[in-house]
Amino acid sequence: MPGYELFGAEERKEVNDVLETGIMMRYGFDGPRKGIWKAKELEQAICDKLNVQYTQLASSGTAALTTAMAALGLGAGDEIIMPTFTFVASFESVFSVGATPVLVDVDDTLTLDPKAVEAAITPNTKAVMPVHMCGAMADLDALQAICKKHNLLLLEDACQSFGATYKGKALGSIGDAGTFSFDFVKTITCAEGGAIITNNKDVYTKCDGYTDHGHDHLGVDRGADLHPFIGYNYRISELHAAVGLAQIRKLDTFLSIQRRIKKIFKDALATVPGVTFRRLPDEAGDSATFLSFFLPEADQARKATANMKAAGLPAFYYYDNNWHYIRQWDHFKQGTVLTPFPPGLKQAMEIYKTKEFPASDSIISRNISTPINLSWSDAEVQERAEKLVNAVKSAL
Ligand SMILES: *Cc1c(COP(=O)(O)O)cnc(C)c1O
Repeated sequence: MPGYELFGAEERKEVNDVLETGIMMRYGFDGPRKGIWKAKELEQAICDKLNVQYTQLASSGTAALTTAMAALGLGAGDEIIMPTFTFVASFESVFSVGATPVLVDVDDTLTLDPKAVEAAITPNTKAVMPVHMCGAMADLDALQAICKKHNLLLLEDACQSFGATYKGKALGSIGDAGTFSFDFVKTITCAEGGAIITNNKDVYTKCDGYTDHGHDHLGVDRGADLHPFIGYNYRISELHAAVGLAQIRKLDTFLSIQRRIKKIFKDALATVPGVTFRRLPDEAGDSATFLSFFLPEADQARKATANMKAAGLPAFYYYDNNWHYIRQWDHFKQGTVLTPFPPGLKQAMEIYKTKEFPASDSIISRNISTPINLSWSDAEVQERAEKLVNAVKSAL
């Protein structure tokens, strides 16, 4: 799953290029940098790899999401429909632009249930944000149709799914904008970093300025740049971008290792009666960072998770963890913030103090996701597949 497992001479070389000149900032210093532009190079590499027109790097996936929302014009009073199952960064970004997160149920794709999305639309809804969780895609045809019908923006949080595709198109490139994270545990890493991709030039130009104090990057030097709007500092550094540049060149290798190992695990588990798998709207496009499956009952899933951990296998039981599912997000449900929410948002958040999500509970409480590592040997994979089958069988 994470690119950090295959960190080596390639990453060191790219970082060294930057250390040689000492120019660690992505803008300016045209002379002393001696033609070394790692962030620019990585942006171009992402455009080429994902077949998308524009890429803007950012300091993190969270910053990328915030930037994308700002560039799409989302803010106070706007409702953004998002799933109950995601990483906390998805709603953090909604809050950071002052917009209102509207959480709706997930289905067996492990992200937005299109029926729940449609039922949640109000006159204030401005955007739908599917989160392509655990390496694979939302039901994008259905979600796109809803967005079109109701004139809503589609923002793809593809932070966990770099390199995955849907019907031949890169996740993130299908909506009005898409975001990626390159934090330390993502498919490819920059240590910390993120990106927004889009085919819309206006959205891109806004992302470019927003991540760098509103600079238009059209001056003869930074001091001569104009500021068409207020931005922030969400820049990536050259050192981080350098790591990402080496990593993106390994992406195809990462994906092929993941897909090979995942198939072995999935074929093994498919022999166990009662096990069902996450629905993949386009299985060929799965980046295969995780194998996600369901057991018939929550208790069985909890027990199987314990069995897997006891056997030394990594297992995520999101229903009980504090990061990915609404059930344990007490700070979100109570609206605990350091500075006050805008008045409308404070009111809108009141519902989460009591709102229940039984449909999501019945999905997430039966789900286990097991990450696929890049560094396992063939023998280890076989052994792990057997242990996985035994751990699950003995919970049923
Ligand atoms: C990792 C992640 C993010 C945020 O990325 P950071 O780079 O850690 O800020 C956003 N959304 C999802 C779904 C993620 O998994």
